[in-house]
Amino acid sequence: MESKQLKVGISACLLGDEVRFDGGHKRSTFCDNELSRHVEFVRFCPEVGIGLPIPRPTIRLEQHGEQIRAVIPKTGGDVTRELSDFADKIQIKAEQLSGYVLCAKSPSCGMERVKLYDAKTGHARKEAMGIFARRLQELNPALPLEEDGRLNDPHLRENFILRVWVYGHWQQLPRPLTKAAVLEFHTRCKLLLLAHNQPIYRTLGKRLADVNTIDDAFAKSYIIDLMDALSEPASRRNNTNVLQHIQGYFKGQLSADQKQEFSDMIMQYHDGILPLMAPLTLVRHYLRQFPNSYLAKQWYIQPYPEDLKLRYGL
Ligand code: SF4
Repeated sequence: MESKQLKVGISACLLGDEVRFDGGHKRSTFCDNELSRHVEFVRFCPEVGIGLPIPRPTIRLEQHGEQIRAVIPKTGGDVTRELSDFADKIQIKAEQLSGYVLCAKSPSCGMERVKLYDAKTGHARKEAMGIFARRLQELNPALPLEEDGRLNDPHLRENFILRVWVYGHWQQLPRPLTKAAVLEFHTRCKLLLLAHNQPIYRTLGKRLADVNTIDDAFAKSYIIDLMDALSEPASRRNNTNVLQHIQGYFKGQLSADQKQEFSDMIMQYHDGILPLMAPLTLVRHYLRQFPNSYLAKQWYIQPYPEDLKLRYGL
């Protein structure tokens, strides 16, 4: 996929926009300096979007019986409905997005562990999702979401970017979807699925084989399950299995020394001595020497632009 073809939503304050309640921002270096070279960011500030000023009194989430409300303690205002409706308002744009980076801890944008106050006692627990973020997820259940702080973890960062690129490929399939197009997409995801979630790898392929036509209901459940599977971390053990599986495709072409070198490198990755990048570089080298059409199309081998350098730390 060409760079900049992907659109990714982002909390505007993460790109340095001074839209926070205190007139500040929370610029994310990774998003602004690195990811922005490969995707087109589409920025939203839900609180400004619903007409709140900058600066503004703080909002907090409160539990009122079964309901979670976004209230403004200073004024007694309640902006729950407005923040939720803002997600509906931007939905036509959100449908074009391949991912969304949310600002952590925000009662509007936070993805998880946002402070939730008990309306009666005033005690807070870190367990809620921001009002806008929750509605965004309801409307777009397959959309990869991540928070700025979690993107500092190399595994979570790699996993998010991987999902963004795979979801982008899905969105770019010609509509209406044909079984042939979805089968081709699924084939390209196979080794990724094997690395991330083996039970879904087995069931999703069977479900796809059993349908005759791809209607909206099947497409929706297929992509939600696939994205869900990819959101699970690929363990070192599963990656080792996938690498050994790949090694099998070269068994007729490699010399005894090359096979040994390949096996040693896989085991060094398995033992944590080498990063995933090392055996994958060898795989690419052998693929150039011994082309294989099935392996060449696997997104596992190169899922996103190399210069994001996401697999060096895995
Ligand atoms: S966290 Fe969301 S609502 Fe708050 S300033 Fe950033 S973009 Fe606006």
